[in-house]
Amino acid sequence: MWLRLAWLGALLSAAGCGPPAASTAPDRIPPAAPSASRAEKAMPPAPAPGPAPSPTPPPQSLGYLKGQTHVHSARSYDAHTPPEQVLEFYRAHGYDFVALTDHNRVTVVEPPSGLLLVPGVELTQNSAVCEPKPAPGYRCLFHLSGLFVDPEQDVAHGEKIQIPFHPGRLDAYRSEVEIVRKLGGVAVLNHPLFHFAADARTVRALAEDGVRFLEIVNASLDAQHPAGARDAEDRSEALWDEVLSSGTLVYALASDDAHHFADAADRVRHGKFAYVGDRAFVMVRAEKNIASVRAAMLAGRFYASTGVVLDRVDAVDDGRVTLHVVADGARRYVTRFVGKGGKELARVEGESPSYSPHGDEGYVRAVVEGSAGARAWTQPVMLRSAKDR
Ligand SMILES: [Zn+2]
Ligand SMILES: [Zn+2]
Repeated sequence: MWLRLAWLGALLSAAGCGPPAASTAPDRIPPAAPSASRAEKAMPPAPAPGPAPSPTPPPQSLGYLKGQTHVHSARSYDAHTPPEQVLEFYRAHGYDFVALTDHNRVTVVEPPSGLLLVPGVELTQNSAVCEPKPAPGYRCLFHLSGLFVDPEQDVAHGEKIQIPFHPGRLDAYRSEVEIVRKLGGVAVLNHPLFHFAADARTVRALAEDGVRFLEIVNASLDAQHPAGARDAEDRSEALWDEVLSSGTLVYALASDDAHHFADAADRVRHGKFAYVGDRAFVMVRAEKNIASVRAAMLAGRFYASTGVVLDRVDAVDDGRVTLHVVADGARRYVTRFVGKGGKELARVEGESPSYSPHGDEGYVRAVVEGSAGARAWTQPVMLRSAKDR
């Protein structure tokens, strides 16, 4: 017999890019119950605590904050909207925080009232050459974001950051992870399937180097996927499961990667793709300040979404996971609970699904889907067997 629940995220330091692998977790695992709260806007009050509350529940006063972790402004070479207008767009769409992630530049401007600016950057290397070589027709794209960077540590002072070139794929990414570390930020591996930039082995290796988040939804690039956005999401999710199944913990992000705002309609008129905003986001259970958001995300107290909103995600020390969906009209919701190997553990209809593990699932995570097609992905609860202790 084994059963021990490890919400490994609760152990992760808020201080930076330490390795998140399960093997580093100490035996004494604090029980965790991230969430039990509500989004700030247009949501009913949080319901009462679930039937099996954590012995140490987090403060009930914390609400979910809506955040965007990947967006570009005119300070990227492939976008034209001033950063102030980008931030105003997200404020007007009910966001609480936005990370501006311009290509190779840390952009800092005064955000509009009510919105937090999370300093960030998307370190970007596009090359025709790398090892292993890309498949015919594809390029070597190494895009890795730093979130919560310290502009004071930016030796480029807001101008272009120089990234040392390495032909090896892993080395190319590692040079970016190192820059994020020097900036005091937290590393995100972006759109791993775009040009097949990173496989599970690469993600695992980078997680050991400090990458904490994997972008499993990139609304802009997913929309261009030959088999459609949903297929792109499914493939990214399968990659995430492959990484988690090896015992390596990374948390999943959903983002816009928006590049076009007022110029979007004109692009569409001319037959071009428009990378628009407010399609994919994260909901973080934190106080509304940057330090709290950073700590909550490093602890896994958030979920990724393309539109489904949850006001509770509870994981308690017997391994039970309980959610509550903020219903939107007459839509129906189906939740899949997923374990090691991407195995579907259970499929539950309704707005308050829960799952009690048997002990051999490896981990438990949930994907909630509304009848309109939007989804939400909770972060995994890692389970450990007795032999692992
Ligand atoms: Zn990118
Ligand atoms: Zn981008």
